[in-house]
Amino acid sequence: MPEPAELERRTVDLLRRLIQFDTVNPPGREEAAQRHLAELLSGAGFECELLAAAPGRPNLIARLRGPSDGPSLCYLGHVDTVLADAGDWSVDPWSAELRDGFVYGRGAIDMKGQVAAEIAAVTALADEGWRPESGELLVVVTADEEAGATHGAKWLCEEHPEKVRCDLVVNEGGGDSFGTNGKRLFGVEVAEKGVFRFALRTTGRAGHASIPKIADNALAKLAPIVEAMTSRRAELDRSPEADALIEALGFDPSDLARALQEIESRDPRVALLLEPTLGVTFAPTMIRASEKINVIPARAELRVDCRVPPGLGEGHARRRLAEVVGEGGYEVEFAEPVIGNRSPSEGPLMDLVREFIEREEPGAQVVPLMLPGFTDSRWFREAFPSCIAYGFMPRREIDMFEAAALMHAVDERASVADLTLGARFFAELAPKVLA
Ligand SMILES: [Zn+2]
Repeated sequence: MPEPAELERRTVDLLRRLIQFDTVNPPGREEAAQRHLAELLSGAGFECELLAAAPGRPNLIARLRGPSDGPSLCYLGHVDTVLADAGDWSVDPWSAELRDGFVYGRGAIDMKGQVAAEIAAVTALADEGWRPESGELLVVVTADEEAGATHGAKWLCEEHPEKVRCDLVVNEGGGDSFGTNGKRLFGVEVAEKGVFRFALRTTGRAGHASIPKIADNALAKLAPIVEAMTSRRAELDRSPEADALIEALGFDPSDLARALQEIESRDPRVALLLEPTLGVTFAPTMIRASEKINVIPARAELRVDCRVPPGLGEGHARRRLAEVVGEGGYEVEFAEPVIGNRSPSEGPLMDLVREFIEREEPGAQVVPLMLPGFTDSRWFREAFPSCIAYGFMPRREIDMFEAAALMHAVDERASVADLTLGARFFAELAPKVLA
């Protein structure tokens, strides 16, 4: 097993190098970073392939095969990032400054840090001569995660499933820890909400703006709807993930509204992150009405980002919408809904995560979590129904609340201690799964 100091050196060096490749998406420009990773992995004995759906934007697939059949374990990551406005940062977002035990830079948390820990771990293992005893270890680094994955994981899973088919995936989305009421919990992302964006339209009668009562203003009809969406909440939906978390927090999930209220009064930070996983949410984000300032609009349109718990469909979203804004007076059109997905919360991979955490952090509890957003795990769960995909990179120095605030934000940074902890997890997991 590689020494922690060696894992730390490799992970920090690689993360700093990765941050220095500007892979802001759009446009992405992932090629140079992917070539760098392919070189490292090839040097350690991996078979590497770069597969691109668009010029200059390859995905990297690296594999290390064992001598006999067995499970395939995939360490998944993406190398693109969201943009950064350098003027707002205290350091250059692409200089990868190392300061007081933290690596600063765009992508340090989302998710070049995890990619660096994964690749540092597997190259250190392979350089020591380790090979899977059975099955194979896959490392898949995608392009284009931040802008819909049409050139990344979606494309790979749909167009080249034979290249990325696997039994187990470890990806981003989980591993953050938090303390509350004397307990310490580590979350494993096992489920992701569905995305049900829609346009809600109202109609009226146009007229000259100088005589308002002559018209019937469609825009005004949206006002109470926007107000209701932001001030009211739909009935909550139970799920195995939410139940498990609420129980771990010491509350009774049979009455979700009450449990949420009790959690809120004890620790509002926990309630804030828990609430969206308990049901359908509506976030009105765009509005459009008259094209001219002196014409009262006959038509108005509100666009809403709606998220729905895994497994539930459009009918459910419509029912919850009616609870919040009432029925009638508007029409709704959904744009390409995506049903949320999940992997089973229990099984050998969860047991290995628990074993690691129980040893590292005695007394801490591992809980399955639902992510209100989504990651590349979605494409793997969809393409390979028996594949178990978890989001997990253990972090304890930066806790869940701090990590949530640093994602896509100013002065994004990763703690060196956490990066090393993650690399140790990845270095221990592969030999156990591929034994
Ligand atoms: Zn990400």
